Amino acid sequence: MPGSEVYVGFDLGGSFLKASSFGMDGALQERFSIDTQWCQRAENYLDLFKDAIKSLSTDKHPKGIGVAVAGVLDLDAGKVVDSPNLPALCGVPFLGMLKDVFSPVPLQMMNDANAAALGEYFAGAGAGYESMFIITLGTGVGGGFVQNGQIWRGASGMAGEIGHMIIEKNGKPCTCGSRGCLEAYFSSWALERDAKAHAAQHLDSAIGSLDEIAPIFLAELAVSGDHDARAIWENGGYALGVGIANIMNLLNPASIVLVGGLMNAKEHFLPSAQRAWEANSFEQASRSSKVFLGKLGEWAGVRGAIQPFLRN
Ligand SMILES: [Zn+2]
Repeated sequence: MPGSEVYVGFDLGGSFLKASSFGMDGALQERFSIDTQWCQRAENYLDLFKDAIKSLSTDKHPKGIGVAVAGVLDLDAGKVVDSPNLPALCGVPFLGMLKDVFSPVPLQMMNDANAAALGEYFAGAGAGYESMFIITLGTGVGGGFVQNGQIWRGASGMAGEIGHMIIEKNGKPCTCGSRGCLEAYFSSWALERDAKAHAAQHLDSAIGSLDEIAPIFLAELAVSGDHDARAIWENGGYALGVGIANIMNLLNPASIVLVGGLMNAKEHFLPSAQRAWEANSFEQASRSSKVFLGKLGEWAGVRGAIQPFLRN
């Protein structure tokens, strides 16, 4: 008896290799996750890919393998051009190596942010909406626009950088060298900067008493009712809402999907974000651009990685 056919999606990051098997209709079957922090060479990563395929497709035939990679990719050369989280793969023709290992199964590679966007668009919070803008809230702030199933890349792949949308002229300095970027007001590093500034001025405050300043501890203080911590979240949330209002007015996407680690503290910043997008966008735009929380979490990328096969 021949086994059933599956697609296998991968998401390779600096900490984990995640993988899932999917039916021919894209329905999730099984999941696999393994630590990658010990990997020193491309061959180490290849071994983990082989283990994952073995685990996910016992008695099954992979019909296609989709791979999302955290980094800047040269898809024509099949190379990882740059990846702060995967230094061992920088400059390595990793797609070709994977193809050699899994030949003759067809293989597709894409950037992890694009894969996560496609995952949420086709199988997550954006499913059923013709257009979606995804905003990733974490250490930095990323974004991407998907319309009619296609990622809007722009002339050189730079489209969607909402984290560096200027929301205040001559505003706070950003890591990109510019000033007033959304990311300089709401991101893990911006929250930490504001909390540290507060702690330096108010040593006897609850924030000043923290052993370590990080979003997770700021969220705990906000839960406990600390006004200073709540104000930092609310101010950041308002800045996020201004960015969302700009997206609503500029693109009027049918859905706006929020994902990323900071969403764990959503109750502390979403109400002020909503006040901001309602106050700063055209009513018709904000009424028709629905804001959703992501549905697939850290598994969006593996689902997006197999999307090229489902289109065919
Ligand atoms: Zn910036």
